[in-house]
Amino acid sequence: MSTRRNHTDYTLAWVCPLEIEQTAAIKMLDESHEPLEQERTDYNTYTLGRIGRHNIVIAALHQAGNSSATSVVTQIRNTFPDIRSVLLVGIGGGVPVKTSSGIIRLGDIVVSKPAGEYPGVVQYDHGKAEIGVFKRTGALQPPPAVLLHAAQDFAVNRTLADEAMDPLTTSLSRITSDKRLKAFHFPGRQMDFLYESDYAHLRAGYLCSECKCDPAKRIRHDYGVDEAHVQVHRGVIASGELVIKDAKKRDELAAQHGVLCFETEAAGVLADTPCLVIRGISDYCDSHKNDQWHGYAAATAAAYSRELVLRLPMYKPKQSPNPGHCGDSARARILD
Ligand SMILES: [Zn+2]
Repeated sequence: MSTRRNHTDYTLAWVCPLEIEQTAAIKMLDESHEPLEQERTDYNTYTLGRIGRHNIVIAALHQAGNSSATSVVTQIRNTFPDIRSVLLVGIGGGVPVKTSSGIIRLGDIVVSKPAGEYPGVVQYDHGKAEIGVFKRTGALQPPPAVLLHAAQDFAVNRTLADEAMDPLTTSLSRITSDKRLKAFHFPGRQMDFLYESDYAHLRAGYLCSECKCDPAKRIRHDYGVDEAHVQVHRGVIASGELVIKDAKKRDELAAQHGVLCFETEAAGVLADTPCLVIRGISDYCDSHKNDQWHGYAAATAAAYSRELVLRLPMYKPKQSPNPGHCGDSARARILD
């Protein structure tokens, strides 16, 4: 059977800012599809495929950041007019606070969910600097209801599942069982270092173990060293232009906005398109931040996203009064 589809067969976009996240995303596909033609004005490269019953467009960013995310998503929607939902999937910096799922740790997942005055994401650095005060401006869109429902459905499903049958672990094993992808495997809980907020990393460019950051300054959690169970925390995600590598700044912004995670693309996507943000936690936004957990965090976020897609409903095709021109109706549908 041919794996070639039409542009309008794709209803779901999966945007992943980094190369490591794109690799993890592709491992979650059940089937790959042939590439399709696109306009010369579309500079994206796409990986097309299927997860369960849904055809998916995977697109990466040529560079991280909000402006790049905005442009990539605009081009996706022009080329694939029936895209109904967008997932932004990748790694992020966690705030080590306690949620209803426990303390946020490396390898856990944070998923955007409206809370309080925020629609799931807050663009904390966008606003007006007036005399003595910073006023936040601009409103972002909430995630599509269908994705929020799927996230809730999956949470219920995991609660009821036997630990040995955790569906997230099943999807994650698509990566962790692949020997070629060692960089994506669980680094071990003994490598999860959270330091006191006022203790700075000793030497930039070196791991904490290499520059001898003081183990006595680590905050210990009450978990076993081998514990790999991935917790999912749902709440508000902070999106800004800068990567946060300052624990005091992290704690200050987290207290101000009640955020669970920091990243740098969601505001760019949400400027024009509702989406669900899914971030695997790869660091604690402090000066000790390094790349050791990038692969595994990208893998957990991708595995969660696959499980979410498997729970999305199938829709009947909409009848268009003018089948030769469906672009406008498709744009309206993305707001469902
Ligand atoms: Zn350190």
